[in-house]
Amino acid sequence: MPEELDWSLSDKHWFIEEVLLCTLNKQVRHFTGTGNTPMMYPLQPVIEEVERIADEDHDIRTVRMCQGLLRAIDSRREDKYVAYRKGLGVVCNKEGGFGDEDFIVEFLGEVYPTWRWFEKQDGIRSLQKNSKDPAPEFYNIYLERPKGDADGYDLVVVDAMHKANYASRICHSCRPNCEAKVTAVDGQYQIGIYSVRKIQFGEEITFDYNSVTESKEEYEASVCLCGSQICRGSYLNLTGEGAFQKVLKEWHGILDRYQLMVEACETNTVSEEDYYDLGRAGLGSCLLGGLPDWLVAYSARLVRFINFERTKLPQEILKHNLAEKRKYFLDINLELEKSDAEVQAEGVYNQRLQNLAITLDKVRYVMRCVFNDPKKAPPPLERLSPEEAVSFLWSGEGSLVEELLDCIAPHLDGRTLNELKSKIHEHDPSGSDDLQRVLKTSILWSGTLLFPQFSPHFSRS
Ligand SMILES: [Zn+2]
Repeated sequence: MPEELDWSLSDKHWFIEEVLLCTLNKQVRHFTGTGNTPMMYPLQPVIEEVERIADEDHDIRTVRMCQGLLRAIDSRREDKYVAYRKGLGVVCNKEGGFGDEDFIVEFLGEVYPTWRWFEKQDGIRSLQKNSKDPAPEFYNIYLERPKGDADGYDLVVVDAMHKANYASRICHSCRPNCEAKVTAVDGQYQIGIYSVRKIQFGEEITFDYNSVTESKEEYEASVCLCGSQICRGSYLNLTGEGAFQKVLKEWHGILDRYQLMVEACETNTVSEEDYYDLGRAGLGSCLLGGLPDWLVAYSARLVRFINFERTKLPQEILKHNLAEKRKYFLDINLELEKSDAEVQAEGVYNQRLQNLAITLDKVRYVMRCVFNDPKKAPPPLERLSPEEAVSFLWSGEGSLVEELLDCIAPHLDGRTLNELKSKIHEHDPSGSDDLQRVLKTSILWSGTLLFPQFSPHFSRS
């Protein structure tokens, strides 16, 4: 390789990203708005322009790089050298560019409460069930009421699919030059795109979408083409797999979840501690106002689990990431990995709170439909007395045992069925002096009978 082309890899990256692409974007700028912008463009005039500007700036090193490139192109005339424009996003078309922390544009779109947004998505999906090429639900962004707001956290969806400005067409980059920020203007929240460093004329405008998904499929399909040296490979972050689920799976199984719900339904009051923990997580009147007490109490219990998960998760993620990296790398910077795991755990924490907010919004809507006033929605679970439990499971009209026997009856001959019936009724706790204890033994017995493979789990109940 000629000496003038022998630059370090990062210098070459810089040359392509900051110099070549910007010049190319400036050259094709007269196509703006015509819809005919070519994706491919001859490379030679771009490099000639770079050389001209570098020459004016007395940048000898870049001039020599350009001369080397032009000589290389010239030596192989039969090859067509073309440059590809990167993406179909938004390019800074302002002479002089933008400074650091400049306001670029407001993100506009149609605003939906989250329940309405998901209802719409479900509708679209059911209409497109058999379509191999479903319409993208891509041009939307969450507008989040900051956790520090006096009324607490909440969110709405801003959909820029149909009614929008160019902000929704700004591409993602893993090394962005802008960020999307929520600001309050005249007492109203809005999303603004602000620069995070200087942006030159011709440079593509980008921000980090900062989106997460729980679907591995979606994650793998979201290939990032930002081309930056620190590209993460996907413009989404995955939180639904492996290490991210570890604490949830281990400490928040179906029995744990029911236990929290039963507890909340039984107390059906919100304690001071509940309000304190909800408030610390940023959940306040905006999200919880008008909800029945059992639901607020349940939310507080979920928040306590989310806090607990936040303390455990960094270790789990670190363990997982180290095991993955050791397969490919010898040199691992433990401090860096630790801080990465912290950042990822924080992402999961925020995701959980966001999911809770979205779910509460949907639940509030359903309650409004069913009970008019959500506050009037009764607790969905109540604890049965031992007598009621026996009646429900064993002896009452349409009890569980009776129903199961009815289901199995057509598959057995009369004798076997009668034997089975009498064997089962031996365990019927009705009439016992110590109903609670006998009921427990009978449930454990039926558990091992019906689900022998799961029997160890019943020991937890
Ligand atoms: Zn990237």
